[in-house]
Amino acid sequence: MNSPVLEQALELASASTPAPKTAYVPTLAKKITRRGILWLGQTCNLRCHFCYFLDRIEDERHPEHAFMSLDKAKEICRTLVDYYGNNSIDLQGGEPTLWPKIYSLVEYNASIGLASTIISNMQVLSSRATVARFKNAGLRDVLVSLQGLGPVYDGIVGQQGAHVRQMKALDNLQAEGVPFRLNTVLSRPALEQVEDIATLAIQTGAEVVNFLGFNPFNDQQTGKRSSVNVPRYAEIAATLDAALDTLAAAGVEANVRYLPFCMVAERHRKSIYNFGQIPYDLHENDFAGWSWTDLPAQRAHAAELTPPFQLGQRLELGPLRAPLRRLAKEFPTIGNGLHQIKQHVERRWASEEPSVSIEELYQRDARMRAREYTGYRHVAACSQCDARNICDGFYGDYADLFGEDEARPIQLGGTVTDPQHFSKEQEKRVHPDDLAWLTTP
Ligand code: SF4
Repeated sequence: MNSPVLEQALELASASTPAPKTAYVPTLAKKITRRGILWLGQTCNLRCHFCYFLDRIEDERHPEHAFMSLDKAKEICRTLVDYYGNNSIDLQGGEPTLWPKIYSLVEYNASIGLASTIISNMQVLSSRATVARFKNAGLRDVLVSLQGLGPVYDGIVGQQGAHVRQMKALDNLQAEGVPFRLNTVLSRPALEQVEDIATLAIQTGAEVVNFLGFNPFNDQQTGKRSSVNVPRYAEIAATLDAALDTLAAAGVEANVRYLPFCMVAERHRKSIYNFGQIPYDLHENDFAGWSWTDLPAQRAHAAELTPPFQLGQRLELGPLRAPLRRLAKEFPTIGNGLHQIKQHVERRWASEEPSVSIEELYQRDARMRAREYTGYRHVAACSQCDARNICDGFYGDYADLFGEDEARPIQLGGTVTDPQHFSKEQEKRVHPDDLAWLTTP
C-alpha cells in the first residue's frame, strides 16, 4: 500500500497507473560520453541545503552569481561542439529556467547539433505553456532535481508549495511528451522516501533515476557538512537496495553516484558510478569539455572566455595569476587552490603525450578528480578490497565525521582494474539519436 505522501504526489502528477516509456531505448553499448556542461549563472529560486553552489547563490556580488550573456553562452556551446566534439549538453544555473534567454540558447544549440538538457527544480515548469515553449525550442529532455516529496521536499528546498508545483510540472512534461530523468540527493530527510521516489518515477514514466550522495563538492567544502546533516553510508544502504530493486523490476535505469561499491548489494554494483565509471555514462559530462567550462572565466558572467588549450600547448599561468589572486581575496570561500586545481586539470588535457590512449587519459583524469579535486580517500580496509582500483573510497571528510568501520572489502578472486568491471553489465536507456553513434564502430 502506498504512503499518503506518495498517493498525493501521484494524484498531483496525474500518475495513478504506470506510464509507458517510449522516448528512450535500452542498450548495453558503451562509449565515452560526448555530453558537455555549462553553468549559466548561480541564481536560483530555491535553497537546497546540500547545494554545491549555495554560497554563490546567496551572494549577489559573487562573479558567478548573475546569469551570463546569450552571446557568451553561445560561444561556449559552439566551442564544445567544434573543439571538444560534444553532441549534447547539460544546461545548469543555478536554475536555468529563470534565465530569460534560455529558449534562444536551446534553439541555437539545436541548430549546431548540440542536444540540450536543462537541470531544473521545475518550479517554472508548473506552467504547461512554458514546457511547450521549451519543447518547441528543441529541448531534448529535463533532468529533474527531485529531492523529496510533500513537506519533506518543501523543507529541504526552503519553500512552501514547491512540491505541489514540482508535481504539476511532472504532469506537464508527460502531457507535452518531454522525456525526463530524475536526480535525488540522498540527504538525511529524503532517505525514508527513496522507495516512494522509485515508485513515482515508474508511474510518471521517468527514463532514468540517479541517486547521488550528499557530496562535499564546491561550496560544501566550506564547513556546512556535519554528522547531523550528512547521513551515514549504513543509513543509505538500509533503504537504497529496495529502491534499486523496485526500479530494476520496472525496467527503469538507476544510477548511484559517488558512493563506494560496498554500500549496495552485489546485484546493484553495476549501478554504482565513481569517477572511473562516469566517462561511460552518456548522461554524464565529458571530462575534457568539463575541465574547460569549469574554469572561472567560463563561469563568471563578466569575464572574457579563455580559449581551450591546443594539444601540446602548455598553459601560460602568468596572465591568470593577478585576476585569480583578486578573486581569492574577495571570495575566500572559493579559494585560489581550487582554481589552481581546475587549471591543472585543463593543463593536463593540453599537455598529455599523444601516445596515451583516450581511455587512459580519461581514467587519469578520473583518479585526479577523485583524489585532488574532491578529496576522496581509501580507508584502511580498502587495501583488502579487490575493487579498490576502480572505487574512489569514502568522501574526504567522511572518516573524520563517522570513522572507517563501514567499509566492507569486496572479494572477486583478484583485484580488478577495468573501470567497467561491474557497469558493463548495466543496461542504459538512451535517446535514439545517441544510439546511432553509440553503436557505430
Ligand atoms: S575500495 Fe573500500 S570503499 Fe571501495 S568498495 Fe572496496 S572497501 Fe568499499
